[in-house]
Amino acid sequence: FLHISGLRKRYGALEILKGIDIELDKGGFLVLVGPSGCGKSTLLNTIAGLETITEGDIKVDERSIAELHPSKRDIAMVFQSYALYPNMTVAGNIAFGMEMRGVPADERKLAIDKVAKVLQIGHLLDRKPSQLSGGQRQRVAMGRALVRDPKLFLFDEPLSNLDAKLRVDMRTEIKRLHQTTGKTIVYVTHDQIEAMTLATKIAVMKEGIVQQFGTPAEIYNNPANMFVADFMGSPA
Ligand code: ATP
Ligand code: MG
Repeated sequence: FLHISGLRKRYGALEILKGIDIELDKGGFLVLVGPSGCGKSTLLNTIAGLETITEGDIKVDERSIAELHPSKRDIAMVFQSYALYPNMTVAGNIAFGMEMRGVPADERKLAIDKVAKVLQIGHLLDRKPSQLSGGQRQRVAMGRALVRDPKLFLFDEPLSNLDAKLRVDMRTEIKRLHQTTGKTIVYVTHDQIEAMTLATKIAVMKEGIVQQFGTPAEIYNNPANMFVADFMGSPA
């Protein structure tokens, strides 16, 4: 469903992604892990079509990203910094894209209610983002992505601004979201535990190269090298 082959990304002379090959089935949950600066966000942004490809190809559902107009890509991204519209209510934030596309109000209302139920934010729909907790804001950001019903979800460290307790709750929430919707997800984190609990597949990255790609169990139990073993905290 997601095919990345020979992907390279350069900024001038600086090569950030040095030949990435990844295959992910429909409904899979791929977690990209690796130290700061290894290229996780760059890879995610390239999949989203927010960055151009220097070399190689990314296909989603048999279509090359580069050939598709952004509005046809059908990919939704949730950022670390939520990026909610401060002057709009929660309902307004969730429905903004639909409103732009001219979806009628009653249809918008139905869609909002549906995602609000999944994310348990029905009681918050009339509030402004400033009146929400971090976790609630993150739910709204997810609601805005979910309401588009994309075929691919991209998350860039969505929980890194939350405190430890909330992070665990939201992790469970995201896992439930994956299980109930069956959506294909690519998720960036530098938290090994998050990776182990959420992923169906993990790609461990270092300096623009995937060091190992496999199931959480494969990577934890049979790390390909010392770096992966260290990073994932595998038993010696
Ligand atoms: P973090 O965990 O800190 O978010 P990351 O793995 O997401 O790190 P990226 O943001 O993908 O890392 O950055 C990878 C490398 O690419 C970094 O060395 C960064 O400085 C560099 N980089 C990112 N964007 C640009 C740009 N527009 N121009 C030049 N270099 C860039
Ligand atoms: Mg990043």
